[in-house]
Formats: sequence, structure tokens, C-alpha cells
Amino acid sequence: MQTITVLGATGSIGCSTLDVVNRHPDKYRVFAITGYAQVELLMKQAQACAPRFVVLADDNYLEQAKQYALQYGVTAEILCGAKALEDVACAAEVDAVMAAIVGAAGLLPTLAAVKAGKKVLLANKEALVMSGALFIDAAKQSGAQILPIDSEHNAIFQCLPENFQYGKLSAAGIQKILLTGSGGPFRQRSLESFSSITIDEASTHPNWSMGRKITIDSATMMNKGLEFIEACWLFGAKANDIQVVIHPQSIIHSMVQYIDGSVIAQMGNPDMRTPIAYGLAHPERIDAGVAPLDFAEMANFTFQTPCYERYPNLKLAIQACEEGQAATTRLNAANEVAVSHFLDGHIGFCDIARVNEETLNQMEQVSVSSIQQILDQDKAARTVAVDIIRGKFAC
Ligand code: NAD
Ligand code: MG
Repeated sequence: MQTITVLGATGSIGCSTLDVVNRHPDKYRVFAITGYAQVELLMKQAQACAPRFVVLADDNYLEQAKQYALQYGVTAEILCGAKALEDVACAAEVDAVMAAIVGAAGLLPTLAAVKAGKKVLLANKEALVMSGALFIDAAKQSGAQILPIDSEHNAIFQCLPENFQYGKLSAAGIQKILLTGSGGPFRQRSLESFSSITIDEASTHPNWSMGRKITIDSATMMNKGLEFIEACWLFGAKANDIQVVIHPQSIIHSMVQYIDGSVIAQMGNPDMRTPIAYGLAHPERIDAGVAPLDFAEMANFTFQTPCYERYPNLKLAIQACEEGQAATTRLNAANEVAVSHFLDGHIGFCDIARVNEETLNQMEQVSVSSIQQILDQDKAARTVAVDIIRGKFAC
């Protein structure tokens, strides 16, 4: 029996995690679930999985949460605030933590789980993009096992040799990590019409159903950029070990190419319950409730190279990855600001990459070596990005 905490339980990954967990009551017990604004959903989840703690990010929704707790007969203790999020991530009773808060907000609770030596199921890629070496070093020190939940990294993990050692790609005969991505909804749209892309158009992914922020990141391919950085940290790879390949059908979730000419791919229907089940049960396999692939139904299996003119955010992310930690932290922060302003209707789709680029250009190079410095860079980049948006778009 494994005891788990689900950070970000009310999100797309959180809901899929509880779906898999609820299929295996003999294997998993839920210690805590956390959420932000969707308190009714959070309490319905608590009614179904009976955790010991339900945690809110802050006390804004506490009264509402208490009322829903009464309504749904939830007896779990309700906590709120940043410290409570960290406490349920590192509590002694917990074996595994699903890190599924979106964005920088997930950094500290995810790190708390890492430092406490938990099995960490990492969906929250922004936490790793922000803190890179500190995150990986903390895991090495505590013995925490990091299991990638991002479908691409989960695929790469599955395609690596069992005895793969962190950063030793050539010793394992690896030539390239082939990071696949669908190319999003605008893969074939004329570049001239990009400036008229609407929020609704950008919020509709052709293959995956996901949270709002990652859906926009997929449309700009910033998601693939963040994943590029994530892959470097997860496997100890260098930027030139990784190649991004567009595969519009999202059936191959990524591949590893070996020096003998073999390419090993992991495939499956685009359903996050597969990598979630893999992470939960590793090294075993459990039923995830995912429909089997039907090869007879697959008409096409195509691939192409991404064009940076169409996806400037992808280029920015690869450049930031080569530049170092401060750049990736800042890019992540600027992008969170830009995406939220896009979703609020303040800036256009193409402005997201412009804000990101300008934020990086306006900030001087520094080196960062502590979490406090990372948080400072994150804050500073947000201020710069907001100023750019205010200056340019007067909102
Ligand atoms: P989502 O928006 O659906 O859910 C986010 C969760 O975080 C919610 O539970 C929300 O309550 C919580 N949250 C939001 N702001 C918070 C704050 N300030 N403090 C505490 N909690 C907060 O997002 P998602 O699509 O489930 O993605 C979650 C993470 O997983 C992201 O980092 C994303 O990049 C990654 N991921 C998602 C998918 C996917 O298919 N959805 C795939 C791969 C990776
Ligand atoms: Mg992914």
C-alpha cells in the first residue's frame, strides 16, 4: 500500500491521478489533496478518496471550503497556506507525491517532497525549469526518486536502458533524444494570420485535453521549449543531445536513438493516465483505464522539423537552456505573465513571444546558486514582463 499526496488535485493531471488511484484502492491510499479556487470539486474529491488533509493554497476560499465540507460530509482536516502545502508534501506518512500544481507556484511544495526523499511524480515542469541543478542536487542528496509524468519524458524514461546513469548518454550508446510534439493547433495556419489568433482558437489542442496554461504553451510551442529544458535536467543531457520532432498525431510520445541505428519509441493513445499509472506503479504496471492503441485505425504517422518563425518561443527556450539557470528561470516567469495577460485579453498571441524575448533582453546576466536567488529572479522577471506589457499595450 502506497500513501500519496496529490498537489494540484483539482487540475487536469490531478483529476487523472485520482482516476487512476481510485481504480486501485488495494494499492494506494490518499494522504492529502490540494487545490486553489475550485473548492467544491476539491471537497467532492475528498468525499471520494477520504484523505487525512485537504489543503488550500491560501485562506481566500476557506469559508466556502468549510461549507462544502459540511455539504459533502468531509471529515478531513482543512489546512491552508504555503507551509501547509509543503507539510503535506514532506510528511513522514507519505511515500509518493504527485507534483501537479501549475507554474512557479508548485516549486516550493515540490522541492519539499524532493528534499524529504519522497518518490516524486513530476508533472510540474516549471519547478524543474526554474530550479534545475538545485532540484537535481536535492534529489541526489535525499535519495528522492524523480519519475517524469510529462508524457514525453515518461516516454524517454521508458526508452532508456534500465542501467542508464544520469548524464552518461554516450556510455549508454545514445546518439539523440528525440523529443516529439504535435505542433499544436497552428501547425498549418498561415503565418500572416497569426496576429488574429483568438483565445478560443489557442485554447483548443488537437489531441490533448489539459489545463489552460499548458494548452496555450502548446499552441506557442513554449511547452516544447520548457520540455527541452526539463529533459536536459531530468537525464543530464546537453542541448545538442536533444532534437525536437513534430509528430502531429501524438501517438509516439518521444524516442531515443542509439548509435547502432536503433530508435526506441514509446507509443500510446494521448491520455495522461498512462504516464501517471507508470509513475505510480513503477517498476510494475497497472491498469490505467486507457483504451489500447488500434493500429488498424491509424491512417497516418508523420513527422516534420519545427520552424522557428512559427514557434519563436521554442527557439527562445533552447537559447535560454544554453545560456543557463537565470535565463530559464526568467523565461518561465515572463511566459507565465504573458500567457495570463493573453488569457485576460490584454495582449495578442504573437505578443507572448515578444514579451518573453524582451524580458530576457532587458535583464543582465547573473549566476544563481540558491533557491532565494531563483525566487528573486522569478520575481524580477515578472516585474520586467509586466512593465513591458504596460508600456507596450497600456493595460
Ligand atoms: P491545471 O490548470 O488543470 O491545474 C493546476 C492545479 O494547480 C490545480 O489543482 C490548481 O488548483 C492548482 N493551482 C493553481 N494555482 C495555484 C497556486 N497559486 N497555488 C497552489 N495551487 C495552485 O493544470 P494541469 O494541466 O493539470 O497541469 C499541471 C502541471 O502539469 C503543469 O505544470 C503542466 O505543465 C504539467 N503537465 C500537464 C499535462 C496535462 O496533460 N495537463 C501534461 C504534462 C505536464
Ligand atoms: Mg508534455
